[in-house]
Amino acid sequence: MIRVTKTFLPPLEEYHDRLRNVWENGWITNEGPLVVELEEALRRYLGVRHVLLVSNGTLALQLAVRALDVQGEVITTPFSYVATTSSLVWEHCQPVFVDIDPQTFCLDPGLVEAAITPATRAIVATHVFGTPCGIEEIEQIARRYNLRVIYDAAHSFGVRYQGSSVLQYGDVSTLSFHATKLFHTGEGGAVVTNDDELARRLAYMRNFGHQDAHSFAGLGINAKNSEIHAALGLCVLSHLPQLINRRHRLVALYDQLLAPAGLQRPQLPAGTEMVYSYYPILFQSETQLLRVTQALNSAEIFPRRYFYPSLTTLPYVLPAYCPVASDVASRVLCLPLYHDLAETDVARIVKIVLSSLV
Ligand SMILES: *Cc1c(COP(=O)(O)O)cnc(C)c1O
Repeated sequence: MIRVTKTFLPPLEEYHDRLRNVWENGWITNEGPLVVELEEALRRYLGVRHVLLVSNGTLALQLAVRALDVQGEVITTPFSYVATTSSLVWEHCQPVFVDIDPQTFCLDPGLVEAAITPATRAIVATHVFGTPCGIEEIEQIARRYNLRVIYDAAHSFGVRYQGSSVLQYGDVSTLSFHATKLFHTGEGGAVVTNDDELARRLAYMRNFGHQDAHSFAGLGINAKNSEIHAALGLCVLSHLPQLINRRHRLVALYDQLLAPAGLQRPQLPAGTEMVYSYYPILFQSETQLLRVTQALNSAEIFPRRYFYPSLTTLPYVLPAYCPVASDVASRVLCLPLYHDLAETDVARIVKIVLSSLV
């Protein structure tokens, strides 16, 4: 059976070696040496100033909203994973959906200004499938209207834009290290920022608000991550260059074999150095997508409809009219992409796709 993704697990001996240290010193959580080591390794790998490990990518978003003291209306994208919206609602913010760009599938910056009201406080945009969203325009609008900017960068681990990490932009970028993500710690995530004061707030907020053992800097929650997770992350990180190369090769093969179909793929802005977390394709119609999916399923191949339906249909948001997002969400399918997917399987998948298009 071939699924849309498969978690990379490092050789068990490598994990075992890391765990032996944990067993020896008996330090399991609360900013242990492996969490500190992984944060340092990620800062270096990603080339950013502050990386704080947290329990998952959803809490990363919630902490970002809290640390920036965002309340009220938040402009956001209807085409992302549900956590991008649910984290806002959970923090009592009002998501205001702005439609997506039909080429990049990311929030359309040209539509943002019209959605701003006196209650607007922030923009939460996703670099969907790793494609950098209209960063310059978003940041220009944010400066003009004094809005905070949070990027949900759960798909953007390792992606570079204009010569530096895509995580450099905005007030905070959030990462997910869930087992289905390219880089993972089983469960986990991180908040990334260049702002020292914000990093200080995020640090105490993820740890109950503790300043030290007996004093509190402010309100906090438990969003820490453990040595067990960090150990896994350190093992995965050492294999990452090969994992990324492998994905580049598979994507190039998909592109080459699928070319005759002329199916649309997300357009990367100039200056993007991509790391492929997903392989999305846009069909001409939902009917075509369903037909292809059925044919693949019959061959025990299970692509995923990331992200269907549009988040405007969630039962806890106000109605919003985002026709591009609704349309794209109904026609995008992510084909299997993972480290040990074989070239022969890519060829088999493409053959089924091509033969069920008409
Ligand atoms: C995976 C994902 C999240 C949630 O991360 P978790 O670590 O699973 O909580 C948030 N946003 C996007 C875009 C994601 O893909």
